[in-house]
Amino acid sequence: MVNFMLYITAELENLTNFQPKGGVDDPNFTYYFKLKCENCGEVTDKETCVSLSETLPLAKKGSTNLIQKCKFCKREGTVTMIPGRGSPLTHDYSETGKYAPLMIFDCRGFEPLDFAFSSGWKVESLEGTKFEDVNLDAGEFAEYDEKGECGVMISNVRSMFKVVDLSKKNF
Ligand SMILES: [Zn+2]
Repeated sequence: MVNFMLYITAELENLTNFQPKGGVDDPNFTYYFKLKCENCGEVTDKETCVSLSETLPLAKKGSTNLIQKCKFCKREGTVTMIPGRGSPLTHDYSETGKYAPLMIFDCRGFEPLDFAFSSGWKVESLEGTKFEDVNLDAGEFAEYDEKGECGVMISNVRSMFKVVDLSKKNF
């Protein structure tokens, strides 16, 4: 088993606290990404989707968020989400080009790649105006903040999956 942390960053113009609509551990937020089979190297054509609220029982014990078979070699793998380690992307992080950790995926048999930002995000302006249900399918979001009397924008969204060691506290 390998734990992959999904890290995200973006350019936040007059915005901060970019995160899923219901918070970093939003049970209904859907994560879309591709999977690479560890056995044969095949990458799925379409994005797989997982969310904390959708679980499947495992044969032996416990539960997981996804059980999928590789189309090519037929080997089965699982993806199990581990909440409680994420934090919103702040304006400071964005300014310095730092990535914010969002969610851990315990992957067996697969490696996650190509996270798609999609919809269901929220963000707030530096003046405190809240923008809910932000859609990033087009890769960008632009609005006008009445309170701050300025334009706000999310652009240049980037993500990466990095292997993390859960026994270490800081990552
Ligand atoms: Zn395979």
